[in-house]
Amino acid sequence: MDRFNNDAPRKMFEGNWTCSECGGAITQLPFQPDESRVGTLKCLDCHKKGRERRSERHMFEGNWTCSECGKEITQMPFEPRGDKPIKCFDCFKGSRR
Ligand SMILES: [Zn+2]
Ligand SMILES: [Zn+2]
Repeated sequence: MDRFNNDAPRKMFEGNWTCSECGGAITQLPFQPDESRVGTLKCLDCHKKGRERRSERHMFEGNWTCSECGKEITQMPFEPRGDKPIKCFDCFKGSRR
């Protein structure tokens, strides 16, 4: 039963801060915030949300043609510049080998 050990409470700092994202009250933090960072604090919920958003890959939608195989491309992981040849995912992978 290792679970009990993992549940041991972490040292928490108590205080009275405000979440910079949702405006909710924060009474406990796992770290002591710097005075200069008090305005950027986030509650646990917003912190989690931010992480999820970052892990999500943003894709640009459009209608391009692969310069190599001529296949249609509808999604790119980055916004293509007009002066650069666009490659589909398969050709892109192939060119890196
Ligand atoms: Zn919040
Ligand atoms: Zn291609």
